[in-house]
Amino acid sequence: RPREQLEAVESVCPYCGVGCALTYWVDRERGAISFAEGRPQPGSQSRLCVKGRYGWDYSASPQRLTKPLIRVDSSYPKGPLSADVRGEGTGKRATKDTRPGKDRGRKPGGLVDYDEVMPHFREATWDEALDLVARRLKEIHAAGGPGAIAGFGSAKCSNEEAYLFQKLIRAGFGTNNVDHCTRLCHASSVAALFEGVGSGAVSTTYGDVANADVAIITGSNPTANHPVASSFFKQARRRGTTIIYVDPRASTVSEHADIFVQLKPGTDVAFYNSVMCEIIRLGLTDPQFIAERTSNYDALAATVADYPPERGEQITGVPADTIRAVARAWGEAGSAVIYWGMGISQHTTGTDNARCLIALCSITGQVGRPGTGLHPLRGQNNVQGASDAGLIPMFYPDYQGVTKESAREVFERAWGTSLDPNRGLTVTEIIHSILEGGVRGMYMLGENPFLSDPNTNKVRKALSALEFLVVQDIFLTETAEFADVILPATSYLEKDGTYTNTDRRVQLGRKVLDPPGEAKADWWIVQEIARRVGLDWNYGSPSAVFDEMVPLMPSYTNLSHANLGSSGKLYPNPDPEHLDGTVVMFDERFNTDDGLAHLVPAQWLPPKELPDSEYPLVLNTGRLLEHWHTGSMTRRSFALDAIAPVAEIYMHPKDAADRGLVHGAMARARSRRGEIQLQVRISHREQQGNVFIPFHFREAAANLLTIDEVDPFGKIPEFKFCAVQVEAV
Ligand code: SF4
Repeated sequence: RPREQLEAVESVCPYCGVGCALTYWVDRERGAISFAEGRPQPGSQSRLCVKGRYGWDYSASPQRLTKPLIRVDSSYPKGPLSADVRGEGTGKRATKDTRPGKDRGRKPGGLVDYDEVMPHFREATWDEALDLVARRLKEIHAAGGPGAIAGFGSAKCSNEEAYLFQKLIRAGFGTNNVDHCTRLCHASSVAALFEGVGSGAVSTTYGDVANADVAIITGSNPTANHPVASSFFKQARRRGTTIIYVDPRASTVSEHADIFVQLKPGTDVAFYNSVMCEIIRLGLTDPQFIAERTSNYDALAATVADYPPERGEQITGVPADTIRAVARAWGEAGSAVIYWGMGISQHTTGTDNARCLIALCSITGQVGRPGTGLHPLRGQNNVQGASDAGLIPMFYPDYQGVTKESAREVFERAWGTSLDPNRGLTVTEIIHSILEGGVRGMYMLGENPFLSDPNTNKVRKALSALEFLVVQDIFLTETAEFADVILPATSYLEKDGTYTNTDRRVQLGRKVLDPPGEAKADWWIVQEIARRVGLDWNYGSPSAVFDEMVPLMPSYTNLSHANLGSSGKLYPNPDPEHLDGTVVMFDERFNTDDGLAHLVPAQWLPPKELPDSEYPLVLNTGRLLEHWHTGSMTRRSFALDAIAPVAEIYMHPKDAADRGLVHGAMARARSRRGEIQLQVRISHREQQGNVFIPFHFREAAANLLTIDEVDPFGKIPEFKFCAVQVEAV
């Protein structure tokens, strides 16, 4: 149909933290989206990547859940039934009919087999399912106390839904055992940022790279994971910004970089300590900034003095001269900014890695001005917002500590109930607690830990051990196969709500389509459960929830659904009429109690599981441009699935040749925790001795291999490093 016959609905991309603004053009006669295009919002500036442009048709998949389901066969073993996720499959993908208009995917390779799983569930009415959920959770709560209940919320949901979910767990069950996928993403960055600068959010936007003389992009493959942000980085390079790319893997960004630092994985602390050591030796620090705006500089300087470039070279494999070149480029820059990803955060030293980045910016005065600062590139489109809304065990909304009496009093008054004064368990701790008999009942909203969490076989045991599990999602995920009750939710396209991107931009996502069957919005479902456990909730819409959030969240001051407009607004927002909110934070003081940046020295520590003769290769896991997390959405999107249909292991040519493997051959990858089979992709981007596997593919589930050791501060797993062997099948 021509554009004039379509209806334009403004929304936000559901995938990465760049949070591109887009318009869906809807054919109301067909009840379907015809196409999507970018909008001129100040951040993304009408740009979209392949996921935003084409990755929305999953919402019309015939596999959408449309009715509540209750398990009928309690004697049948819970959990994924097929061999592929037991690590016994072939890693190959079954053939399926992907022609448009076909019922593509009733039995697709690589996704949950509905025909196999559905007979173990029966359809139920909403009242029956919700009554059962409330009754079982209350029974477990009564028998085991508040600590027996836990909830995983989702960064796929809106801010309003995240807020309601954490409020339900806290006010309805008296526990702070509530968390979400930030624990697997930037929890260590947030821990370091809170400690260092008093705020877990970015200090400047990705677009501000245009004002930087020098930008370090580290532990990140933005072309795959933050594609539109990556386009700004590359554009800045063309306009004169010096790009320093620091990563164990090469990428298209390394091809655009002025300096590519291909360090050994797990050596970030040593590298940045060496850079700081050299900056101090050259006298390129900012003494006034250090004196007036930081604390603990002497301890930091004493620590980094032990990392001269030659020692840095020894640990990182980066030539000492390259370390010196980076130090000089950064130290001499008028403005310099750091963007980082999960190559920094997903380590057992993730918090230390981020501490070094904070220290580097602080000792050189590179914070608080245009083109300077700290920016952890957020993974998911609303991981910033879900964290802001309190979907984390140690903080109420807006990072007000649950152990802080004054904060607790505010929320007790607002919510009319007494609250747990103790910090709750994180995602990774909850899995552990289930195995120890602590947590016994769980409410899982939009998360798929079976595929996303480390050491799948441990997660399998934990999910099987739960007395009661309710999963709320749009598809039958691998985790839903363990559920006692499955609640069909709406996708982002079928409801209103706000989402906060990596820049701190709060944007309105608007309802584009009607939900399928009896699927309901997450906020509605959470409210219905809350009412059934005795909470007097009467929210009529997401905007009513937002209105409750604003007075409880100082960062949201001056924001409302009504004034977010077409482009959203950055927080903090100095006044309701302000055009776009605050781009650069910390121009006068940091958010810490004393207003200073706290410098925390870090010593380099090796990763937890080093390669040896039995497992000689280092496994790095991550994402592809075309797919998203556990693949439940993108693997059901026609175009994305067609571009990247199979699981592959990326190997250096020599590592492959040593094992008799050629491009396209099937290989077995195994670690101390499990094994998978998948195709070989010869890649010149890997260093010899390192392999990369994306974690989107159930039939070759990367997390069967990964290690569940966590960072002691952020509790984030070491997804970026474990020892594996690869061999021909
Ligand atoms: Fe969506 Fe991220 Fe792509 Fe933008 S860059 S279209 S937010 S996936």
